[in-house]
Amino acid sequence: MPVYTSEALILRTYKLGEVDRIVVFLTRDRGKKRGVAKGARRARSRFIGALEPMTRAGVAYYEREQRDLVRINYVEPTRSPLSASSGEALGHVGYFAELIDEWAPEAHADERLYRLGSSMTDAIAAGAPVESLARYFEYWLLRLQGVYPSIAACHGCGGALDSARGGAYLAPGSGVFTCPACAPAAQVREPHLSRAALAFLHAARRTPPRDVGALRVTGETLAELESVHRLLMGRHLERELKSTRVLRDLRRAARVTPQREAEAKR
Ligand SMILES: [Zn+2]
Repeated sequence: MPVYTSEALILRTYKLGEVDRIVVFLTRDRGKKRGVAKGARRARSRFIGALEPMTRAGVAYYEREQRDLVRINYVEPTRSPLSASSGEALGHVGYFAELIDEWAPEAHADERLYRLGSSMTDAIAAGAPVESLARYFEYWLLRLQGVYPSIAACHGCGGALDSARGGAYLAPGSGVFTCPACAPAAQVREPHLSRAALAFLHAARRTPPRDVGALRVTGETLAELESVHRLLMGRHLERELKSTRVLRDLRRAARVTPQREAEAKR
């Protein structure tokens, strides 16, 4: 059985059987993996405290032929979002992890996504303001996936979106931004990005996540960004119901169990 060690980001876990957990984690070098952490729900498990979403860790796992689930040997946390003091930050941890989980391809390395995710953990631990960080994260995530529309020029006339009378209006059904003049009248009432919101995004391109607190932005501007990002994510994320996915993974686990028991008896 080949053993792999990697830097990884824990995304989520769920229960398996009486005492085990399935852990979904994003490795730096081999993409997203799902593995069994044996005994992770026992009181004195070596996995205790290591499996919170967005924990950065060194992970060792065995991969077995013909099996979707790997076997996790150890998880050694190197940075935990739990070191963040604010409850608001901790509330966002699951949100970040869920979005990465949704966008990360299975078993296909995405170094940039890995770096974005792990830098979020560092920024949360460093106390970066979490609402700004969330909008920053959504912007970068959508950019990396190639689905964030251009914020430079109007899709209709090519004029600058951040000009004096500007603002970016999301054209319904097309996922591009237009200037107010090119936006249909009905659309001007739809969520849009003001010049301040566009300025935040331009600055976000050259600011590392841990410095996001240095970007001056109002709650109103963050709310604009949130509304537009929701629309963009909704368009591009074919959401699968969580329960459906959990059931699928449990079925995978059930398939490997009889063989694992046979091995144990040997
Ligand atoms: Zn225009």
